[in-house]
Amino acid sequence: MYSSRCNLLLSLTILTAITVRAQVTERFISHATYLSSDKLEGRGPGTSGSILAAEYIQSKFREIGLEIPFESGYFQEFLQSESGVTERNVVGILRALSSTEKSVVFTAHFDAYGIAEEGGAEDIIYNGARDNAIGVAALIELARMYVNSGRQNQNLVFVATAAEEDGLVGSRYYTQHPVFALEEITIVANIDGFNVSGPRDDFFVMPRQGVDFVDDIVAEAGRRGWTYSPPDWIDTMNTNFDTAAFLLLGVPAFTLWTGNSIPEGVHITEPEFGSIHSPEDEINDTWDWSGVEAQLDLYKSITDYFLTDPGIISVQDPELFRKE
Ligand SMILES: [Zn+2]
Repeated sequence: MYSSRCNLLLSLTILTAITVRAQVTERFISHATYLSSDKLEGRGPGTSGSILAAEYIQSKFREIGLEIPFESGYFQEFLQSESGVTERNVVGILRALSSTEKSVVFTAHFDAYGIAEEGGAEDIIYNGARDNAIGVAALIELARMYVNSGRQNQNLVFVATAAEEDGLVGSRYYTQHPVFALEEITIVANIDGFNVSGPRDDFFVMPRQGVDFVDDIVAEAGRRGWTYSPPDWIDTMNTNFDTAAFLLLGVPAFTLWTGNSIPEGVHITEPEFGSIHSPEDEINDTWDWSGVEAQLDLYKSITDYFLTDPGIISVQDPELFRKE
């Protein structure tokens, strides 16, 4: 009797866990679908599509229960000096258990290339699905995971950055106007692209030069069963991500991607991706979302590690991240 009740309880627990995980993926897909829809017209900086995207992210931050960081709300507005348009980062926070300036910052850019100026082609909307609607979907769901886990010993800041494609404009603005002191940022976890190729068990991070915390990330991921397999090209991309805005100022930051290794016994069909920075960067039926939650868990386990580990990490060569 006892053991059969135990079995029933165990089955119910597993079923509940599976259902909760399925809900995460459902929500992730729904964020990505809305943000990359034609309605948002490619989320070009200064456009109504960009405002719709910011409003969507704000509504999710509010729904999740992230706290408002500014008197004006979740929006951190700024004037883009070159184009003269007003843009906004969307920022939500989860304050630490006790008063501190220390923070872990999560970033994902929500802008894309807008609408192509030259007509003629049938599809002129740069939907920016992989780059980076899915990264924003991950940011929103990571925020939810942390709110559900409760307050931490450091502040958590979730920043959906604007105008990354224009030269890291939103992330640079955040470094000049951080919610908690820049020198007290433990690490920035940036999300640019996410795994929509099905289950994977390897990963890589950027940067892997000029910083001293890659080994920590590799070790923590290893404890979770992930294999580190860095491709050769990644070192050439150091200045192309929002991380560069922070790294240049000596603030530890990383972006993490999954690799191409498929777990043993798993069979998948490779999805077809349209190239990024083109109107082909759209969601299609071949995308496999079944690896999303595992990558969310990986991001969270790494930021959990940096929230609890007292060791000092640093950027040894900030100049490596200056755009020529
Ligand atoms: Zn991007």
